Amino acid sequence: MDYKNVLNEKLFSINRSPTLQFTSLAKQLKAEGKDVINFSAGEPDFDTPQFIKSAAKKALDNGITKYTPSTGFFELKEAIAKKLSIENRISCSAENIIVTAGAKFAVFLAILSLVNDGDEVIIPSPYWVSYPEMVKIARGKIRVLPAKKENNFKITSQDLKSVITNKSKLLILNYPANPTGITYTKDELEMIWRAIQGFDLFVLSDEIYEKIIFEDIEHVSFASLDGAGQRTITVNGFSKSYSMTGWRIGFMAGPREIIQEASKIVDNTTSCPNSFAQKAAIGALKNNKDWFKFIKSTFQERRDLIYNGIRGCKNIFPLKTQGTFYLFCDISRTNLSSVDFASRLLNEQLVSVIPSPGFGIEGYVRISFSTSRENIEKGIARIKKFVSNI
Ligand code: PMP
Ligand code: GLU
Repeated sequence: MDYKNVLNEKLFSINRSPTLQFTSLAKQLKAEGKDVINFSAGEPDFDTPQFIKSAAKKALDNGITKYTPSTGFFELKEAIAKKLSIENRISCSAENIIVTAGAKFAVFLAILSLVNDGDEVIIPSPYWVSYPEMVKIARGKIRVLPAKKENNFKITSQDLKSVITNKSKLLILNYPANPTGITYTKDELEMIWRAIQGFDLFVLSDEIYEKIIFEDIEHVSFASLDGAGQRTITVNGFSKSYSMTGWRIGFMAGPREIIQEASKIVDNTTSCPNSFAQKAAIGALKNNKDWFKFIKSTFQERRDLIYNGIRGCKNIFPLKTQGTFYLFCDISRTNLSSVDFASRLLNEQLVSVIPSPGFGIEGYVRISFSTSRENIEKGIARIKKFVSNI
């Protein structure tokens, strides 16, 4: 049978997630006994902390194993709203929140809720791999906005003005950014906000890496800027901040009218997020100060180690990561395409990194430093050997 005639034709233009694919290939090679250094992982390498697991175990013992309200337990939505109000200065309450099956679904839900056929969605590049694919599913029109390297891959108001039209519906911001590890200052965000005010443009602000941010850099939420909350959907979740990638709890926060309408999609698709994982998330929000200190200092030490190590390698030029656990490296001077670089590095030195075309740019690789110091040191030595032999 020719399944091409059966399948929804939209699928032919949608790509698999390269980040998920490379990560599972690295895990598979490791399971086969190969001594692979996995620099492709998009998740913290720590186990979920005990206090969160205990909250989940208690929930299971108490029979929290049934459907919950589709947009999440009220208690969790209240706790998220409190966190957003206090930490992020976003004024909101439970009615502004939808808890979702991972932040990925929150991003998708926001896109599905706002984008009509043909509406333009501005995606600054380099971008996280899944944004364009989600826009394609929603039948939106992708307007990639290349951010300039000399501006540390951050967009400016001038860049924005060059692409906004009256068909522009949504701007997707992500900071600290996957894959560049760069973040925006309050002044830069205010400039972006001023540039879009004359247009009917909404902002989807994906702040999932907010807690993995270094030195004394402050994370500023777009929705906290004066007046911006009315036109912003903030996405965040528990995957990265609490090392809970497998628990699948994320959320979106936005104007009540949008939340009410978007809830219909949740009712009729996922029904609700996992019940006992929601109770674990409530536990996570209660008791997290030491945990955040630990992840920040651990990732910062590793960032220093890998940044200095890779800077010492021939023909590779890393950006200095400000947040996230990714080091974004210019490899164009090696004269290899990023796909060739990544596949030869894996074959010849058993080091797995992500080539950059999936992020909407050529000539770079993303190195995840979400692994032990020992692995980082080994990985740097192997990369050094690899590039000095090219
Ligand atoms: N946004 C970005 C920028 C990410 O890197 C990820 C990682 N998968 C997500 C959203 C989705 O997170 P989650 O695992 O909670 O779906
Ligand atoms: N976001 C992570 C990454 O970029 C996890 C994989 C994915 O969901 O794409 O590697």
